[in-house]
Amino acid sequence: MSNVIFELRDLRKTYNVGQVNQVDVLAKVNLTLKAGEVVALTAPSGAGKSTLLHIAGLLDAPDGGDVLLHGETLNFKSEERRTKIRRRDIGFIYQFHHLLPEFTATENVVLPQMADGVSWSAAFERASMLLSKVGLAERRNHRPAELSGGEQQRVAFCRALANGPSLLLADEPTGNLDQATSHQVFDNLLAIVRDTGLSALIATHNPEIAMRMDRIISLDKGTISKD
Ligand code: ADP
Repeated sequence: MSNVIFELRDLRKTYNVGQVNQVDVLAKVNLTLKAGEVVALTAPSGAGKSTLLHIAGLLDAPDGGDVLLHGETLNFKSEERRTKIRRRDIGFIYQFHHLLPEFTATENVVLPQMADGVSWSAAFERASMLLSKVGLAERRNHRPAELSGGEQQRVAFCRALANGPSLLLADEPTGNLDQATSHQVFDNLLAIVRDTGLSALIATHNPEIAMRMDRIISLDKGTISKD
């Protein structure tokens, strides 16, 4: 149990399509992430990756099974408690950066920290440190529209890590970038994940990027299979 950070146990999710059709998107998903482990989730479109990541990130409830972080079952907690856990313990990265357009790179990384009660000066210091780590020290006063796609996504990484989460969930984080930029941006992501020692589950369609992680898992007929 010692170094297990995150666990999905017998996770089930069924969608009703129309009156009669049921789709068992997640049939019996079991997954364990150890401290510092970076795992690639690869599966064809429609296999249930987003569903799994949403449930793992407490954004959606499973029909059965449990989501555990640090050995604690989270899916039965109150909405307020789940929001707090999401803000502090789980970082999210999506295919599109979803940065706030009217704020600078620094401010986008400062805001989630202030929402968690951190002072402006401490949040500013951490934002500057994170942005420097991904090579954006010079660009930190720019708004998202003044940054390239790769730079925007690197700011999104810093925002995801702003509150020092222990788990990072990413849904196609380089899916919107060209091949060369994908690798550069993934280098940044992997370096910062390794540096902070957090565990990560990263959905990707890119086999070369998947191969660079510690292990690859796939979703097949609603269950996890290893490649
Ligand atoms: P992926 O991220 O691997 O592309 P998704 O998790 O988005 O897959 O979707 C898995 C399956 O579940 C798909 O067949 C999709 O159509 C279905 N699905 C997803 N969300 C819903 C929903 N809210 N209602 C009904 N079916 C859904």
